Amino acid sequence: MGRCCDRGDEVVSTKKVRVKDIGKRGDEVLCPIGPEDLFELPPPYNESEPAWKELSEATIDKVVCNLDGVVALSIPKPKDEAEEKEYVEKFRIGLTKLLEKNNNWTFLQPLMLSLEYCVNCQSCNEACPVFTSSGGKEIYRPTYRAEVLRRLVAKYTKPGGKLFSRFTHGDIDLNWTTITRLYELAYRCTLCRRCAQACPIGIDNGLISRELRKLFSQELGWAAKELHEKGTVLQLEVGSSTGMNEVVVKDNIEFIDEDMADETGIEVTTPWDKEGADVLLIHNAGEILSWPENPGAFAIILDAAGIDWTLSSESVGYDGVNYGLFYDDVQLSRVTVKHAEAAKKLKVNKIVAGECGHQHKAMLTVSDRVLTGDLAVKRESCLTLLEEIVFSGKIEFDPSKNDFPVTLHDPCNIVRNLGIVEPQRRILRYLCPQFREMTPHGVDNYCCGGGSGFAVMSPNNFTDWRVSVGGRMKLKQILDAFADQPGPEVPKYLCAPCSNCKGQIRDLLQYYDVLEKSNITYGGLVELIVNAMVDVKKPFIKWEMH
Ligand code: SF4
Ligand code: SF4
Repeated sequence: MGRCCDRGDEVVSTKKVRVKDIGKRGDEVLCPIGPEDLFELPPPYNESEPAWKELSEATIDKVVCNLDGVVALSIPKPKDEAEEKEYVEKFRIGLTKLLEKNNNWTFLQPLMLSLEYCVNCQSCNEACPVFTSSGGKEIYRPTYRAEVLRRLVAKYTKPGGKLFSRFTHGDIDLNWTTITRLYELAYRCTLCRRCAQACPIGIDNGLISRELRKLFSQELGWAAKELHEKGTVLQLEVGSSTGMNEVVVKDNIEFIDEDMADETGIEVTTPWDKEGADVLLIHNAGEILSWPENPGAFAIILDAAGIDWTLSSESVGYDGVNYGLFYDDVQLSRVTVKHAEAAKKLKVNKIVAGECGHQHKAMLTVSDRVLTGDLAVKRESCLTLLEEIVFSGKIEFDPSKNDFPVTLHDPCNIVRNLGIVEPQRRILRYLCPQFREMTPHGVDNYCCGGGSGFAVMSPNNFTDWRVSVGGRMKLKQILDAFADQPGPEVPKYLCAPCSNCKGQIRDLLQYYDVLEKSNITYGGLVELIVNAMVDVKKPFIKWEMH
């Protein structure tokens, strides 16, 4: 595998990495990880684990790689000591601002509670899919990065902190090594918040990762390229993080409408910019390019149910992505205001969020802090609307058309974080005779491993990490759910009503050849609904990797 230590650098013992080691080891890899560290998957996936990508010499020479041998963020090596000091000072200032009401108007209270009340019982560790999949690497322990932050706060923001810290166990120096390792470490957490749910007092170590990302972004200008330059910046400039402008998105939807008519025999014309519509549907625009059958299925269902709906061609109004949720409050706010303005302009009754988990969290809850006064717009999940439609009697269904094994992935942001658990299950129990739950499921689900923006991040050797470490527990759950028919003879469907989860699941299934070995494909919820419609004569589900 491509660790920096392949070049002969000294590697710190992985067994006893202490919290204070984060700032003490120069350029060395603090805690290397590779495929040999991971727990064994069920047969036949236990026969061989894919090798990890080697980092190129050019990468190793150019970017910082001092945490675990994985490079998600490509921080350029500093030119000189002055540059190092400049960033360390920015971090120190950011640390202070993170704890101020005026500078952290979004998450200060839960952050302070999480920093101040941890009793160090370690009950959260086993809940973390990253920690367990890695074979228990110290640096991935949910409390590790929280404890680093806690000690830095105590030393650098409290009166007499430096003096006092000298006498306490585990003093951490704020230096270039500390901040670069901590930056990478903030991107080894999927923000799934499973640890917060396991904690007896609700300490949110996921929030701590997120707030660290915010500090790095807002104070140092450091953020994952895929989330910032290619994410929110592109979305605000062009209209969508996919790069589609208004003309391109309309063209693509027109093509999807035609395709749907060919596939199903049902004529659909997606409405654009319909003033006064009841529903403004906002998809994650990635669906339009990568999974066009999903917006196509939505159009068929909404039309068949007689819903008064529209899409918006306003810039950002046709893309529900909001990667600011994962790393930056300012970018989060800019995007969310655009969504509300698109709804206001069309005078719709409400926005309905399509099948996208982080869009749900950003749009339905976190944005409450921003969308006040004139910007307060009604917002709803597509899952509750779909439940209403399916049980309204307006569409005739034949569940026998879905008579194949189906299981459900619970997107963390929709289920654990928003509590939308039952609507999607009621639909699947009704329309899919062979529906079975994963273990555990609902609010106890495991993240797909693509949470917090990871699904769109594939630099250097990070794909190996996010798929085989981040997604390992999920893959095991999927295989276990179909353990009664494990082979390729029976086609099986994994329902994942979230665009980012689907991106990660596609990579996960491809990485381990799951379609070939187990004949498991994946897709959204609306595809299953359309597949069961009596009026749709041909099978809508495609048994292929897409
Ligand atoms: S975060 Fe909660 S569960 Fe984890 S060690 Fe602290 S108190 Fe215990
Ligand atoms: S939020 Fe999820 S990935 Fe992050 S530390 Fe908690 S359990 Fe682990």
